[in-house]
Amino acid sequence: MKLPHASDLIPKLKGQHVDLYLDYDGTLAVFAPTPDDVLPDERVIGLISQLADSPNVRVSIISGRRLGHIRKLLPINGILLAGTYGVEMRLPNGEEVHRISYEAIRPTLDGLKPRWQGLIEGKEGFYLEDKGWALAIHARRAEESEGLQVLESAEKMLTEELLGEHLQKIFSYRFLEVGPRNADKGHALRYLFEHYHWEGAVPIYIGDDDKDEEAFQAINEQDGYSILVSREPRETEAKYVLESPIEVHQWLRGLLP
Ligand SMILES: [Mg+2]
Repeated sequence: MKLPHASDLIPKLKGQHVDLYLDYDGTLAVFAPTPDDVLPDERVIGLISQLADSPNVRVSIISGRRLGHIRKLLPINGILLAGTYGVEMRLPNGEEVHRISYEAIRPTLDGLKPRWQGLIEGKEGFYLEDKGWALAIHARRAEESEGLQVLESAEKMLTEELLGEHLQKIFSYRFLEVGPRNADKGHALRYLFEHYHWEGAVPIYIGDDDKDEEAFQAINEQDGYSILVSREPRETEAKYVLESPIEVHQWLRGLLP
């Protein structure tokens, strides 16, 4: 099904307060082949600063990246920055909030790390990524049957007891991750609506990938506008579409006075 283009919304938003939530990669900035090498983009910083200065708009950025990285990409005061899918946040007043304590999960990850390391040691094509709040094994470049075998052995270590109440596992194509259960953009938005609700403002979320679907749901529950960034039609919870980060920039400029 073809979604309506989000430009239809701009006239409706004139004179309204807009509570704006934005993904970063693939939404504000074009994807880089190696995400760690992404540098701050002056155009993005300029636009977000202008929006943040507008009294009609409140800006929050919600990313899967670490908060420390997002801070470097968007060195702007007075906006909310959320990293690790909303687990770690910096509020507009500069205060930091962790929706789970690092100490509640890190000892478990520290215990698991050498065991996972042992599984991939000496094997080709594996990569163990320590994301601080999460650990992941990437097996994309491994030989297929060995890749599966290793991921299965790694998953067996993730017993109910080990995961406890705070951790969850995510198994996807040649990839296994263990991280906080509340590392979820939908959870993060519901938390923000509850604690930092802006009465009378229209909530809007713009994002491009499958980790944004939970956020679209949370926005729809609030009767806000959920906007997918995609060139191709696809299965989504979003109600509107923009084609590319360039269109996102144009659209956001439409919110400026
Ligand atoms: Mg994205």
